[in-house]
Amino acid sequence: MRIKSVDLFPIVMPLKAVLTLPRGASRTLAEGKQNILVRITDEDGETGWGEAGPSRRWSAETTQSCYTSLKHYLAPIITGRDIFDIAGLHEAMNQELAPGLDPGQPVAKAAIDLAVHDLICCKMKIPLQSWLGAKRRDRVEIGRLVSAPTPEKAAEITREARAEGYKGFKVKVGHDADLDAEVMTAVVEAADGGFVWPDANQAYSLQQAQTFLRHIENLGVTLFEQPVSMADVYATKKLLSTTHITIALDEAAMGLPFVIDMIRRDAIEGLAIKISKTGGIYYARQMCDLALNAGMELVGSGLMDAPIGFAAAVHLYAAYGIATPVDLNGPQHIAEDYLATPFPMEGQAALVPDGPGLGIEVDEDKLAKFKLDLDL
Ligand SMILES: [Mg+2]
Repeated sequence: MRIKSVDLFPIVMPLKAVLTLPRGASRTLAEGKQNILVRITDEDGETGWGEAGPSRRWSAETTQSCYTSLKHYLAPIITGRDIFDIAGLHEAMNQELAPGLDPGQPVAKAAIDLAVHDLICCKMKIPLQSWLGAKRRDRVEIGRLVSAPTPEKAAEITREARAEGYKGFKVKVGHDADLDAEVMTAVVEAADGGFVWPDANQAYSLQQAQTFLRHIENLGVTLFEQPVSMADVYATKKLLSTTHITIALDEAAMGLPFVIDMIRRDAIEGLAIKISKTGGIYYARQMCDLALNAGMELVGSGLMDAPIGFAAAVHLYAAYGIATPVDLNGPQHIAEDYLATPFPMEGQAALVPDGPGLGIEVDEDKLAKFKLDLDL
């Protein structure tokens, strides 16, 4: 069964809150949440949906780069290919846009990968989790992202989130190690036994990370995400040898070859999974298998995913049994999306949809409403 056509829908959804990374706002309110939706149609007229949702201050891709890569390179090369040859499809995409230390414009490639997985599963009338072949969980607990300038504000956000049913809290750090430690202390206290973990998004030097770790080692924190530069293997190894807290790699773990190299160097013990950074489910599931077989801790994460990416992540994280709350913060930031009916939730737990494919329905009228005119 072959791919007949690939349609692109650039959209912008309104934001209700801004996520700030150490490099600045991931997206401003004025920018909104920009995504390129991809609809793949096969010879039978059946369709599957994917999306590219880049975060330009997290990795190098932009809305514009995703659109032009999809339109001029990826869509033409996959048209006419067998939908069931997912490996061949990725080889073809990698032939067009070469992988480097990362998988080579993975956010754009992930849009194709998601659409093909959705199409296959819709065709087989099975949920994506069934295609993944593992039913370790039927729900995924969603964590609350805490990004606040003061310990008082952080504690307030955490208390409010607890009252809303959140059981996990990811704290954005990487600004000032001493102040960040105060923020962490405030969140741990306010979380009242909830799972709390910091993410520095590569912003600390080795010395700053060591200072921060000294402050938080007795708080009961068990995991610290991407403390130092993705390229600084020496600092990562040094931290691993000096703390009992698991150091999980995120930006450093974009592609399988570098993760394998980090295993060979004894420089990795935890992994943050994001479908978009790996180039889609095909590679993300390989990374999950590698992590589980190597005894690494897995945490779930995303790039402020809209419903298509969110749904794919819920299927994957449930399949791989990720029990800790995951950082899928799209619903926390996106004010309005394109779903025909809301995503199934119970409290702050996302339930794995039981319909075919991703198990969600895209409302094409809403895509028209959110249409983004790209200035290319
Ligand atoms: Mg991260």
